[in-house]
Amino acid sequence: MSETGDVYVFDADDTLWMNEWQYSRAYAAFFSHLYEIMGDRMPNIHLVRDVFFKIDGHMFKDYGVRRGRVAESMVLTYRKVCEWIQERFGEELYSEAHEMHIRGIGDSPFDYSKLRFLPGVQETLSHLAGDGSQLCLLTSYDRSVFHSKADRMGLAQWFPQERTRVVEMKKSAEDFIQVSGYAKDEHRDAKTWYTVGNGESDIIPPLEIADNWRGIYIPFGSTSRYFKDDSFAHGFRHQAIDHPRVRTIREFREILY
Ligand SMILES: [Mg+2]
Repeated sequence: MSETGDVYVFDADDTLWMNEWQYSRAYAAFFSHLYEIMGDRMPNIHLVRDVFFKIDGHMFKDYGVRRGRVAESMVLTYRKVCEWIQERFGEELYSEAHEMHIRGIGDSPFDYSKLRFLPGVQETLSHLAGDGSQLCLLTSYDRSVFHSKADRMGLAQWFPQERTRVVEMKKSAEDFIQVSGYAKDEHRDAKTWYTVGNGESDIIPPLEIADNWRGIYIPFGSTSRYFKDDSFAHGFRHQAIDHPRVRTIREFREILY
C-alpha cells in the first residue's frame, strides 16, 4: 500500500456507469408482457406491481443482489396472477413457455454488454491514480458475474485485485475497512479516506469508522431494497446528504475540484 496519497473507495453501478435502467427496463417489460399474454383477465397494474415488489423484497433475505432473484420473483408473481385468474374467471392460463420467457426478462439486468462509463469517469480515475491516490472498488453485486463484467470494463487498470471487494448484501463499515486496508495502514491518520457513490448506503457506513473518512455523494436513485429514494417528491431531484463530512456533487469529474 502506498504510504502517501489519499484513498478513494468507489461504488460501481450507477456511479461509474448506469445500471439501474436495466432493472427498471426488465420490470416494465415483465408487467407489459403479463398484459400481452393475459389481456382482459389481468388485475390492475398497482396490484401486480405491489405483489411483485413484496415478493422481491422477501427474496432479498436469501438472494441479496445475486443473479436469479429478479427472475424468481417474476415467476412467483406470474404464478400468483395465474392463480388469481383461475379463482376469478375459472380459467387456467399458466404456460411453461410463458414462464421460461419471463425468466429471460428477469435475467436481463445481468447483461453487462451495454454498460458504458459515465462522462469523465475514466479520465478522473486515471488522474487520481496518477497523482498517487489509492483507488479501491467496493460493489454490491453478484460475485459469479462480477469478474467477467470487470474484465469487460477494464477495471484492473485502476483497481488492483486486492483493492476490489464484491459483497452480495448491503455494504458495512467493515467492508470499507477491508477493501481499503485501513486497519493495517500505519499512516492512516495522516490520510483522508473518501467513499464515492450514488446511494446513502455507499456513503454513511464508513463515516463511522473515523473522522478522516469523507463522503462524495453523486446521487442517483435505484429500485434496490438498499435504497431510500425520496426524489419523487422533488421532481426526481435527489437531496444532498446533510453531513459535515459529505460533499454532494452532480458530475463524476467534480471529485477533482
Ligand atoms: Mg451504486
